[in-house]
Parts: sequence; structure tokens; C-alpha cells
Amino acid sequence: MIYRELGATGLRVSILGYGASPLGGEFGPIDEEEGVRTVHAALDSGINYFDVAPYYGRTRAESVLGRALRTIPRESYILATKVGRYDRDQFDFSADRVTRSVEESLQRLGVETVDVIQCHDIEFGSLNQIIEETLPSLERLRQQGKVRFIGITGYPLHIFRYVLPRARVDAVLSYCRYTLCNTDLENLLPWFQQQKLGVVNASPLAMGLLTDAGPPPWHPAPAALKMAAARAAAFCHEQGKDLSELALQFALANPAIHVTLVGMADRKTLEKNLRCVGVMPDLQLLGKVRGFFQTVVTTWPSGRPEN
Ligand code: NAD
Repeated sequence: MIYRELGATGLRVSILGYGASPLGGEFGPIDEEEGVRTVHAALDSGINYFDVAPYYGRTRAESVLGRALRTIPRESYILATKVGRYDRDQFDFSADRVTRSVEESLQRLGVETVDVIQCHDIEFGSLNQIIEETLPSLERLRQQGKVRFIGITGYPLHIFRYVLPRARVDAVLSYCRYTLCNTDLENLLPWFQQQKLGVVNASPLAMGLLTDAGPPPWHPAPAALKMAAARAAAFCHEQGKDLSELALQFALANPAIHVTLVGMADRKTLEKNLRCVGVMPDLQLLGKVRGFFQTVVTTWPSGRPEN
């Protein structure tokens, strides 16, 4: 495994991180026992960063991950979870709710402290409430020792431009914005670096878009982007290559990204992804595959219109 420092937190994180949303069944039915074995195999491989949220499987992912971690010494993993999002359209970033939320997560995860607590998909809330109410309430939990570091997550990149100059944050989580189809996050990376922020890049496979199986039914990408991804996958096949492997190698290779989170609930997928660590992408193939996305819109709307 290769490790990088997560900004100024002092945490040394594996560049491949474990995304636990599939443990909640977000990408289809799962075998929980296999999920638990996959978490253990991930730890054995040197993966030390685990990301989850109450939202994933509406608490199921936290419960399954908690069950897997219960037998593991606490110092051998870094645990990140979230507050504020509880269902597809249910958000509550109030001080009361997020404070209770952390207590509930601690229970489900079977730990006394969360290493990184993140405000989940803040574009669906009021950004001013995040700054004035949510982050200060997480700061109080930090003083009580219930959380160690604080982060924000979301899809539109301008949320980071708005919040970061106005609040103290240790880490940011961006998703689907540093992939084979869209690399807009690149513009912000030098600024994040200047601020010594921890940078977490989630969904390098664009939430299943850049896989042979294709995206889940709820995937928000426009139809033309889904078609371009299917064509890119077929092209890779013709070359005897795998689109997902190329996508993960591409994301892992950027040193300004400290941890790349991939969702994996079975050991076969884990093994496949571990083989991408430390492997540089084939640049010729990369250029051709990225070409499939040049003429399509590679983003989608997310959050409140006023944000
Ligand atoms: P992803 O891009 O990692 O794709 C996951 C899907 O791809 C799953 O169906 C998985 O089984 C499949 N997959 C994984 N590796 C594969 C491989 N090598 N070949 C073929 N298929 C493969 O999307 P994700 O799970 O949404 O993102 C990763 C993690 O990042 C999440 O689990 C979550 O922890 C985090 N995340 C956070 C936010 C947020 O905070 N707003 C948003 C998205 C993701």
C-alpha cells in the first residue's frame, strides 16, 4: 500500500480508501457476511481509511461496517462518517440534529471517536447555516473528544469556494469530479494544497458509470454521458483492457489527492482495485478513452438552486 498525509491532520492515509456505501445496498443487494470479510481483507491489505454515512442504506452501511470493525483494534483504522443527510431528500444540518447524529453513528459504529466527521452534501442545505451553526456544533463535539477532524462534502465545486474562506475545516470530500469523464477538481487542488487541507476524492468510477456493469438506476448523469461511458467500456474491451482499472489508476496517480474512495462490498472487487495501486495508467489508452467524453456534458445539477 502507498500512504499520503491527509493535509495537516497528521493522519497517514492509504491512497486507496474503502467506500462503504455499497455495504448499505446502494448499488444493489449485498451479502453482509461477504461485506464484513471484505472490510477485514481491506485492513489486511493496508487500507486504513474507511468512509461511511448514516445516509448509506439509511443507517445499514454504518451498522455493517461497525459489525466488521468491532473486533479490530481502534488504532489500526481511520474512520470517517457524516452528518446532515438522512434520505434522498431529507437533510437537517441543525446543531441539535447533527449532535444527535454523531452520537447515533458512534453507537452504530461501536467506537468512542470518529476521526473525520463531514457535513454531507452541503449544497442541499443553507451554506450559511453550515458555517454559522453546523460546523460550530461539530467543533464542540471535537472539544468533547467525540470527533477529531472536521470536513465538508458535496458535488458542485463552488460550495468549497464559498465555505472554505469563511470557516475552519480540516478536509474536503469531492466526488465524481476527478474521473476519466470530468476533472474539474483539478482547478481547486493547488488552493486546497495552499490551505493544507486533506483532500478526499470519492467515486473515481463516477458512481458505477465507469464500469462494465454500468450505473445504478438512480444515477443522475445525463443520458448522453451514460452512453459515452458505455461506448468507452466497450472500446476498452476491444483493446483487452478494463475501463474501471484505467479509471482507478488515473485517480490514484494524482499526488494532490490524498485518498481515493472506491465503493467495494466483495473481495473480488477489492482484489481488482488493490492491483491498481502504484500502477500508472497507459497514457495512450487514457487519451483515447478521455476522448469519448469530450463532446458530452459531464456534470449534472445537484442541490438547492440558490447555492
Ligand atoms: P464508485 O465510483 O466507487 O463506484 C462504486 C461502484 O463501482 C460499485 O457498484 C462497485 O461495486 C463498483 N466497482 C468498484 N470497483 C470496481 C471495479 N474495479 N470494477 C468494476 N466495478 C467496480 O462510487 P461510490 O461507491 O459512490 O464512491 C466511493 C465512496 O465514496 C462511497 O462508498 C462513499 O463512501 C464515498 N462517497 C461520498 C460522497 C459524499 O460524501 N457526498 C459521494 C459519493 C461517494
